[in-house]
Amino acid sequence: MIVGVLALQGDVPEQLRAVGRLGVKVRPVRGPPDLEGLAGLLMPGGESTTMSNLLDESELREPLSQRVRAGLPTLATCAGLILLSRTLAPSAGGRDPQPLGLLDVRVRRNDFGRQRESFEAPVRMEGLHGGPFPGVFIRSPRILDVGPAARAIAWRADEVVGAREGNVWGLTFHPELTDDARVHRAFLGMARTARVSR
Ligand code: GLN
Repeated sequence: MIVGVLALQGDVPEQLRAVGRLGVKVRPVRGPPDLEGLAGLLMPGGESTTMSNLLDESELREPLSQRVRAGLPTLATCAGLILLSRTLAPSAGGRDPQPLGLLDVRVRRNDFGRQRESFEAPVRMEGLHGGPFPGVFIRSPRILDVGPAARAIAWRADEVVGAREGNVWGLTFHPELTDDARVHRAFLGMARTARVSR
């Protein structure tokens, strides 16, 4: 099984390491041929506007969307979630990217006050045992609504910080930046048994 990490911008080395530590083969995805034969895809955190431009430049937007629509298991964190979302509510700073519309959530970028742009908080996540997960939030987006095609899978207190539509998981926090491998392990477990129609 080979898992791809979208490697255009952002915390790519951390995602490669997070998968590699579980003994799974990883491949950086920089262009359409890199999508061949993947059992899963990780979309890292970073800067979603830049990543969106690079998706166009690398001609990945369409083929990547097709794969995800066909059921490719995908784990997106932070900027990755922003890119996957169905709708973006305008953010304070303007200049929002064009989202892919693959996860039925409405999201607003950079939606935490300045002093809280980055923080850690315990997260409860469906299917994870052994206590709360250490949530690392960095200029995090906020999930404003979860649409009918998706459902909430992670919470920070009462707030939804993760959603899932089919094989697509989107999180506003960064499990790749912690030593706790439970989220990646759960995702890879799902990817191992997922059916992908090609
Ligand atoms: N603030 C970033 C954006 O809007 C996301 C931050 C992150 O990925 N840690 O793209």
